[in-house]
Amino acid sequence: MIIKCPYCGPRDVIEFTYQGDATRKRPDPASIDQDAWNSYVFDRTNPSGPHREFWLHTGGCRQHLLVTRDIASHTISSVMFARDTVSGDRS
Ligand SMILES: [Zn+2]
Repeated sequence: MIIKCPYCGPRDVIEFTYQGDATRKRPDPASIDQDAWNSYVFDRTNPSGPHREFWLHTGGCRQHLLVTRDIASHTISSVMFARDTVSGDRS
């Protein structure tokens, strides 16, 4: 799989580290709602089709990226710097 880093250009996936699902919303840090925190930490979906993920370009510029990748075909439709996304808006 090739990921087009916005800074470095196309690179093999071996240079990147998966950082997790970019669609999950963290509960309010002041919240003591155990169900919300348990769900955030342990519950995972198994989506099919386009999915937004965080990747770190470990072997390159070390930038955090927001990658939209089709889970079934591994086709990547967009890559952007995670810092360019609006904080808290990962939908
Ligand atoms: Zn890079």
